[in-house]
Amino acid sequence: MKVLVASSIAREAIDRMRKEGLVVDERPGISEEELEEIIENYDALIVRSSPKVTARVIERGRRLKIIGRAGVGVDNIDVNAATQKGIIVVNAPGGNTVSTAELAIGLILAAARKIPQADRSVKEGKWERKKFVGVELRGKTIGVIGLGRIGYEVAKRAKAFDMNVIAYDPYISESKAKELGVKLVSFDELIENADIITVHVPKTKETENLIGEREFERMKDGVIVINCARGGIINEDALIRAIKSGKVYAAGVDVYSTEPPDPNSELLKLENVVTTPHIGASTKEAQTNVGLIIAEDIINLFHGYPVRNAVNLPSLSAEEFEYLMPYLKLAEKMGKIAAARLGGNFEKVKVTYRGKLAERDTSYLSRALLKGLLEYILGPNINLVSAMPIAKERGIEVEESKIEKTDSYESLLEVNVEGRGRSIYLAGTSFGRDDYRIIKIDKYKTDFVPKGHYIISLHEDKPGVIGRVGTLFGKNNINIAGMIVGRYGDKPGGIQLMLLLVDDPPSEEVLEEMQKLDGIIDAVYIHL
Ligand code: NAD
Repeated sequence: MKVLVASSIAREAIDRMRKEGLVVDERPGISEEELEEIIENYDALIVRSSPKVTARVIERGRRLKIIGRAGVGVDNIDVNAATQKGIIVVNAPGGNTVSTAELAIGLILAAARKIPQADRSVKEGKWERKKFVGVELRGKTIGVIGLGRIGYEVAKRAKAFDMNVIAYDPYISESKAKELGVKLVSFDELIENADIITVHVPKTKETENLIGEREFERMKDGVIVINCARGGIINEDALIRAIKSGKVYAAGVDVYSTEPPDPNSELLKLENVVTTPHIGASTKEAQTNVGLIIAEDIINLFHGYPVRNAVNLPSLSAEEFEYLMPYLKLAEKMGKIAAARLGGNFEKVKVTYRGKLAERDTSYLSRALLKGLLEYILGPNINLVSAMPIAKERGIEVEESKIEKTDSYESLLEVNVEGRGRSIYLAGTSFGRDDYRIIKIDKYKTDFVPKGHYIISLHEDKPGVIGRVGTLFGKNNINIAGMIVGRYGDKPGGIQLMLLLVDDPPSEEVLEEMQKLDGIIDAVYIHL
């Protein structure tokens, strides 16, 4: 796998990828035109806020499988074009959380104690102790708008300052807030009761101008306001007026409606506004973190594992990722088996998640199953991003259900695929990261780890059949490493299932010969 690093990222991230055997080319500062020229040679691309990854770059990236943004915003990447081509876009949302939260706390302290103003005054040779009387944080109420990653860390730190923390976030669970001892309140309650208001929401249609004239009017007198989320969430003109009127005691601003802000902007001229140039994420640690987060996801993809921080896929927590990993492989391999057994004809896919699995985010597993199925007919370019839209496009009906009760296993993955009047049922479970097994195919009990070269066949349960298969493979110098005969019922006879694990794939001729052997009903070869 070849990785192009098109912006400067942490050395640790580059070393990490090389250590895993990836070929990494470093071209920081590369232009868009140059990127278009060379992108066809790479499987992975890493950028920061530049260069732009346009639809043209994506179109030219014939080998491209993943684009990593070492940072949060993906505005410079055409995510839609990437999704259409099945390219995973990953970012590093958690990498700068603490850095930004610490800046917010820094701005609160700076605003409350007028630290930058006092600094300037001392450096000008003045000694104005009376001028720089501030306010304490202890006992004050801080209102956190948006209790996501950064808001949560700000709330945690505010607690250490003996502050009373209230938060408004309509999308967060009560238990998450309780965990921290934070009281979730309505937007109006927060606006009216907080001594300090800090915003940590994304900029959306809903949050643009979230705090404007009307909100400032209803705030407590002498409120401190902080924005290190995105410019425009707090309306700048309204903020200027509220500061001038004395309603707002001080403000801390890291982000602006236009960046850099107009040097003549009134906001920059107000004495009690502490400004910083969008440096929330600008710490050594954050830069290393975001680089490493992206590197890890590229390595995950390289090893065939799911990625953790895809923008065009649901994201997973570390714990969830560990739990789902073996099931992901299992689901994909079940898809491969089903497709091979049904000869690529499938119209309806039913997945049932039982037991502990039913409590998890299983959307990845359904995607992996479809990937396994579709690869059979469309080749290896299907991935977790493209599998679902392609299945939809092809009119494949996908039905998912979750049943928390299981009889025997902690978790069970059941798959039923139908097509052209035929169907196949598979069930599997996992006992650890690399120990995932298929325990049933149709009515036949099996117990095998689906890894390697397999021949799956049905045969008549009568003497000599298995011997003839052994002779055929021996004659063709193919070693049989394992064999499972999944007998249905306890009496001999009938049709039975055979799984052969072979060291080398059989040629078409050998497979055809096997299909013609007396007693063999059918046989398919699958590389799992
Ligand atoms: P996050 O997704 O973890 O959290 C955002 C939270 O906002 C979520 O809990 C969500 O439920 C909540 N939310 C969404 N809409 C809301 C609404 N209308 N009202 C109230 N809550 C709402 O994001 P994060 O990583 O914590 O980042 C928060 C903000 O910080 C983002 O705007 C991000 O761009 C910004 N940020 C700035 C810098 C910087 O350099 N200053 C660095 C990193 C992130």
